[in-house]
Amino acid sequence: MPAKRNPHTMQPRQWYGTQAWRRRAADQIRREPLCRECLRFGETRPAFAADHVHQFHDFQSFTLGPLQSLCKRCSDAKQRGNPAPVRTGVDGLPLQPRDLLTLKPMGPQA
Ligand SMILES: [Zn+2]
Repeated sequence: MPAKRNPHTMQPRQWYGTQAWRRRAADQIRREPLCRECLRFGETRPAFAADHVHQFHDFQSFTLGPLQSLCKRCSDAKQRGNPAPVRTGVDGLPLQPRDLLTLKPMGPQA
């Protein structure tokens, strides 16, 4: 049986090969089998990757930080620096629910 490698002496990209990560990623996909980002838009796509919600800075945040399930499309978009692929409605305008949350309510202010 090969000796366990010390994750603190490994490159961060090598952490993805650890048994701890593989188990955790598989568990994430099992618990959340659909893409979280697509669900926000009412779409259902199978999860492709267990994704760190926040950028990790060390092995502890890598292994313990919150995860989300993403489909390949959303995972690729995040890798490119976009939080989600741009979706458009029937009117051709981009759908971005998070932007709607920032709109101020209409009518007199209390
Ligand atoms: Zn997705």
